[in-house]
Amino acid sequence: MQGDPLTHGLWEASAPPAPDTAPLRGRIAVDVAVIGAGFTGLSAALHVAEGGRSVAVLEAADIGFGASGRNVGLVNAGLWVMPDELPQRLGPVYGQRLLQALSDAPSVVFELIARHGIACEPVRHGTLHCAVGARGLAGLQRRASQWQRLGAPVRLLDARESAARTGTPAYAGALLDQRAGTIQPLAYVRGLARAALAGGAALHSHSAIVGVDDLGTSWRLRTRDGGEVEADWILVATNAYAAPGSPWPELSGELVRLPYFNMATPPLPRALRDTILPGGEGAWDTRAILSSLRLDQAGRLVFGSIGALRGAGRAIHRDWGRRALARLYPQLRGIDFEHEWYGWIGTTADAVPRLHSLGRNVVSFSGYNGRGIAPGTVFGRELSRLVLGQVGFDALPLPVVDVARAAFKPWREGFYEAGAGLVHAAGARW
Ligand SMILES: Cc1cc2nc3c(=O)[nH]c(=O)nc-3n(C[C@H](O)[C@H](O)[C@H](O)COP(=O)(O)OP(=O)(O)OC[C@H]3O[C@@H](n4cnc5c(N)ncnc54)[C@H](O)[C@@H]3O)c2cc1C
Repeated sequence: MQGDPLTHGLWEASAPPAPDTAPLRGRIAVDVAVIGAGFTGLSAALHVAEGGRSVAVLEAADIGFGASGRNVGLVNAGLWVMPDELPQRLGPVYGQRLLQALSDAPSVVFELIARHGIACEPVRHGTLHCAVGARGLAGLQRRASQWQRLGAPVRLLDARESAARTGTPAYAGALLDQRAGTIQPLAYVRGLARAALAGGAALHSHSAIVGVDDLGTSWRLRTRDGGEVEADWILVATNAYAAPGSPWPELSGELVRLPYFNMATPPLPRALRDTILPGGEGAWDTRAILSSLRLDQAGRLVFGSIGALRGAGRAIHRDWGRRALARLYPQLRGIDFEHEWYGWIGTTADAVPRLHSLGRNVVSFSGYNGRGIAPGTVFGRELSRLVLGQVGFDALPLPVVDVARAAFKPWREGFYEAGAGLVHAAGARW
């Protein structure tokens, strides 16, 4: 995308083309304007259009340009936060509501894919959260028992079954979550765009919003090139990819950006492919500098970890990736990566996303902490229900909170990027 293979890598090479869209010229008026064409904005637009209101999506670059087109493609249930902790942090009402919404979220994604016939390599064979050492296993035991008490279909696997499912003896166990699965993320976000357009939404790419005027009973958004949108509602879905000059800059100040990269092998020969994740699960591990693993439909292994593929980091992470993969799967020795790319994850201080009211009928949703496919789809739908008047703010899965600036943001972002480089340069195993 935009001539840079390091942004969307394999996903750009294997996704069906994006639907045709053009920059906004002149002036339009709609009920709802959505800023940002990722999972959140496009799910909102699709559901608003299905609800019979007029909606336009304004995207600064291309569909899926942000994290939605760059991620690993793990369609997870829940957050990083332990299930029992959510009610403690949000209170019993919102805690239970959020748990339920995110537990059901993968079903929402896979049903939407089926309903709209989105060609995005959907595989719902579960995910494996793999334990590194006894400490990793203890954390997974707690997570498993908390989900099981809520009736979720998760199961803790011992080291033997983990080895059989992952194809490596590296892990002390794994949490199999049968609600979850994998997709080709850029194909999914493009498919959402196609479905929203078919439902009657307007979508303008290369239309960065750089100004907003309060017209009293409605709003006017201005694009960088002079286009104008008048709307009753504005949904801000820019997460960690706010374009320069975006209104409400305080939203970016709230998120600490964490880099994450992926590298993909060429399609593996059948005999090799059958030795790695033969059940088709997606996987990641319990380390702080975690790594993730999955296969795509063509049998490429997609291997990722924390770090930015820029400056010295690019060579460090690539070398680490080669070594780490050879340790996990010695049978892959000699097979190099064909694609590499990276992006920025928007994190919040407590790993819980944020719902903000930024003014009359202006709402934003952000801060997925690396869990945005299913939550972004679900929260987009929830925002549409708000706009359509089907629910009030008090019925949403999260409370409205004030925007709060992240403490030590530049320092923490530098620390994460440099720290991941140091860990990988120092020879972390995988
Ligand atoms: C490398 C990586 C790996 C990840 N892996 C996973 C995973 O496996 N599973 C998972 O669930 N989540 C994962 N995530 C997180 C997930 O990708 C994000 O949470 C999700 O994509 C956020 O979606 P979004 O629609 O809110 O934002 P985005 O997809 O970032 O979209 C925001 C859009 O807004 C546009 N925009 C910004 N400013 C303006 C403006 N002023 N005017 C118009 N448009 C604007 C941007 O160009 C962008 O396209 C990962 C993220 C990264 C980066």
